[in-house]
Amino acid sequence: MRQPSVEDFHDIAALGEDIRRHILSNLGNDLYPPDPFRYYSGLAYSIRDRLIKMWLATQTSYYDSMSKRVYYLSMEFLPGRFLMNYVTNMGMEEGCREAATKLGYSLDDLAEEERDAGLGNGGLGRLASCYMDSIATLRIPGYGYGILYDYGLFHQKIVDGWQEEQADNWRRHGSAWVIDRVEHHYEVRFHGRSEAYTDAKGTQRYRWVDTDSVVAMPCDILIPAHGGRHVTNMRLWTAASSTGFSLRDFNQGDFLGAMQSKILSENISKVLYPNDEPIQGKELRLKQQYFLVAATLRDIIRRHKKTGSTFEGFSDQVAIQLNDTHPTIAVAELMRILLDEEMLGWDEAWDICRRTFAYTNHTVLPEALETWPADLLGRVLPRHLELIAEIDRRFLAEVALRHPGDAGKLERMAIIDRNSCRVRMAHLAIVGSHKVNGVAKLHSDILRHKVFPDFDAFYPGKFTNVTNGITPRRWLNQANPTLSRLITEHIGPDWVTDLDRLRELLPLADDAAFRSAWRTAKRENKKRLARYVLRKSGIGINPDTLFDVQVKRMHEYKRQFLNVLHIVTLYNRLRQNPDLAVPPRTVLIGGKAAPGYFMAKRIIRLITAVAATVNADDALRSRLRVVFLPNYCVSQAEKVIPAADLSQQISTAGMEASGTGNMKFALNGALTIGTLDGANVEIMEAVGRENIFIFGLTAPEVEATRAAGYNPIPRIEADAELAEALDMIGRGFFTPDEPDLFRPILDNLRHNGDYYLVTADYRACIEAQDAVNALYLDPEAWTAASIRNTAAMGYFSSDRAVLEYAQNIWDIEPLGE
Ligand SMILES: *Cc1c(COP(=O)(O)O)cnc(C)c1O
Repeated sequence: MRQPSVEDFHDIAALGEDIRRHILSNLGNDLYPPDPFRYYSGLAYSIRDRLIKMWLATQTSYYDSMSKRVYYLSMEFLPGRFLMNYVTNMGMEEGCREAATKLGYSLDDLAEEERDAGLGNGGLGRLASCYMDSIATLRIPGYGYGILYDYGLFHQKIVDGWQEEQADNWRRHGSAWVIDRVEHHYEVRFHGRSEAYTDAKGTQRYRWVDTDSVVAMPCDILIPAHGGRHVTNMRLWTAASSTGFSLRDFNQGDFLGAMQSKILSENISKVLYPNDEPIQGKELRLKQQYFLVAATLRDIIRRHKKTGSTFEGFSDQVAIQLNDTHPTIAVAELMRILLDEEMLGWDEAWDICRRTFAYTNHTVLPEALETWPADLLGRVLPRHLELIAEIDRRFLAEVALRHPGDAGKLERMAIIDRNSCRVRMAHLAIVGSHKVNGVAKLHSDILRHKVFPDFDAFYPGKFTNVTNGITPRRWLNQANPTLSRLITEHIGPDWVTDLDRLRELLPLADDAAFRSAWRTAKRENKKRLARYVLRKSGIGINPDTLFDVQVKRMHEYKRQFLNVLHIVTLYNRLRQNPDLAVPPRTVLIGGKAAPGYFMAKRIIRLITAVAATVNADDALRSRLRVVFLPNYCVSQAEKVIPAADLSQQISTAGMEASGTGNMKFALNGALTIGTLDGANVEIMEAVGRENIFIFGLTAPEVEATRAAGYNPIPRIEADAELAEALDMIGRGFFTPDEPDLFRPILDNLRHNGDYYLVTADYRACIEAQDAVNALYLDPEAWTAASIRNTAAMGYFSSDRAVLEYAQNIWDIEPLGE
């Protein structure tokens, strides 16, 4: 086969012809009257043809090189839209623009037709997608594995100020990017029981019998490298019923009952669980996790056997990265396959497991550390519970040997908690892996010293850090073409694959002409966002104000409430003194709350109430605006982040594992106001203390403050501005018709010890905002700091992060050109 090349995409006439052909024959549609979604789909299928050719060539080179591969297992991927990513990564932007114009459309308008693939909640899923991009671009042999949910994360609407959730039926109109690969489907089993027997050699063996089953069908989504020559994929599974329906029930006349079991089994890949941090412990969720794991291990082992390799060399060929504990049942599943199906002995099987798996921890929130009731796990996966109990028994025997008589240690380290009868998935992941990593320096330290100190002492060297990263392809090159062009004009295009090159911008911070061009680029993005906000919410915002942005999932620890307190304080100051010397400001807040998260939803309602009051105040019209942006998602982030002046990263220190939003903003020249939490610490080290606004308690101070029994009341009484802001919220100033609406938020604060320490950090936050105002009033100094932020972001490229995983955890070399 001829190696396809990027030149193929410069043949505009051929591309236009392909688009027409796809609309007519493949999509079975008419060209007239012209419909933008139809033309988007035609373009998408034309790009897909070209991608598939290159993907096949890449897969051949993997087999030729017999190289070790990494499998990135994740319950979530958050790729967003694909069209512009394919177009920019494959260098076909010009060609596509021209072809689109010839057909009567702009490429940007066609791109807007695409629905986001929202197969994740937030940071964790987006990280997985950034890593896919880097794996492709670095030419690391590897694949993502996940679930193709019919319904992704819900669509958020704001109705009367409240969040409303709508089902995200993202594939209703088909998706050109999802490629069915029915030939590699597998049966996945549940329920039944474990049965002991003696094999021909007289060895005690086990088999899993009387099971129910579903079929896992694979679909691939292709991920091209920047520059185009290399294409990898993520393989996502959908559930199909193993039998059309139960014939026995049907013959007895129970057609609906027969269909019921088919529907039930297809439920498995129906919907993504919309919880960001806390977990729910529902049987369907456990089935989803096992479904991903079982189908993926089958696929890995099929591929391994195809190369004629034995299990002895398994971990020399295969690395499996567990993205959080969600796929941890893989440890038990691989043991089951090796023991019950491949007939290996325990020690050999266990050795293979531990060499193969590595585990990334993403949270220290106690409510988010995943545990499963042993009886539920035993009902759904009886053989796995048996294996976990045996892993636990052997592990605790080792611990007891090294720490005789230390019952407390055994209790703390046990995989199955004897008191609650729950399986601690993090412990299983730690014991079953050769490396465990946190996602920022601070977070990894907290894991070692606070969350898992017994394990760290027991397994010296197992715990490590890989600070998260983001892909510069999507988050600068694609999302911010104006700034990217400016950067490339001055330092050339290599920063796109070598982000450290941005350092060459540093001297330009002192160049007045460059600063002016930098401001112009930012202003273009702010105008683009203003048009978007007007279109989406009917609110006009002024691009010549300070754009202060906080977009991320709604969560108490992320402290959107602290942001509100600052807004109310600024509002009060401006009402008292209309001539106050502060820059006019537009505060933009966006984020989804988990549907069952009462407090997060109440905070959204508070933001919309404050926004309505502030925006209705004509006297303040030109000084302060507040906008809640509905439905924060990747495609919205791509519009919001390049336009931000100020990035709010204000979580309670010690609670945000890393954050990646913080990196996207700084990369696009926003200055951060934030606490010393997650990767903010490393961002500060990189950009310099004078180019970031750091405030508030540190992680150890947070711990000490809580341990001393923090009482917010004296703090509130001693701070008139804080007291007034809280009083206004509490007495219904922003919702006169419902004066008690925000009482639960205040009660939490006043009577439950203000766990997230909003009042403790309030004054420091306001002072940091004062410093923001002062610097913004000096545009040259602000711009210089903005340039210095971008220039320092090389370290936060996901290429750096993925290379660290490859070298220190996976033991995989990138393939050469
Ligand atoms: C980057 C990103 C996140 C993560 O943001 P944090 O501020 O790190 O929590 C969440 N959602 C979307 C859509 C993102 O792009």
